[in-house]
Amino acid sequence: MKIGVLALQGAVAEHIKSLQQAGADEVVAVKWPKDLEGLDGLVLPGGESTTIGKLMNKYELMEPIREMAKRGVPMFGTCAGLILLAGRINGQDWSHLGVFDTLVDRNSFGRQVDSFEADLQVRGLEGDQPYPAVFIRAPHIMEVGANVDVLCTYQDRIVTARQGNLLGASFHPELTDDVRLHKYFLGMVQEAKATV
Ligand code: GLN
Repeated sequence: MKIGVLALQGAVAEHIKSLQQAGADEVVAVKWPKDLEGLDGLVLPGGESTTIGKLMNKYELMEPIREMAKRGVPMFGTCAGLILLAGRINGQDWSHLGVFDTLVDRNSFGRQVDSFEADLQVRGLEGDQPYPAVFIRAPHIMEVGANVDVLCTYQDRIVTARQGNLLGASFHPELTDDVRLHKYFLGMVQEAKATV
């Protein structure tokens, strides 16, 4: 199982570490289109979505990653990564990858409270203890299409959802020691490999 982490900006090293702890055999940083070769899954980290989107275009990663997502390669977008995946972004008439059938609102937990932690119940994780989530200028999902499963809400807002091979979370799972969400993603990768 070879997993890539988009490494243009943001919490890259932390995702690599979490994926290794969750049991991924090989984890690579993706900076160039050639780094996408042979990947079984891709993580899109948090950071600043406008900046990452611009860099994805500049490094010619946007189109190949969109193709991979449409081909069924599992992808996990966290925070800004969720915004990159989103089909629609609230208040904007354009999107980035535009593959995840959701409407996403940026910076939607209030400007004065830039970051906070919350204990969440996320469907599909091992065990039933709450998942400690770190939110940093986090987006939330305002609307989902018929093929999207909501896995977690917080304060009546959707903060984790899945559409087949695509997983999105509003928060930063790489900034906590709990790697259950990364394990969940690796499970999606295994499922996808088994059906090829
Ligand atoms: N607010 C950022 C954005 O809109 C996302 C923040 C994050 O990834 N921590 O891109």
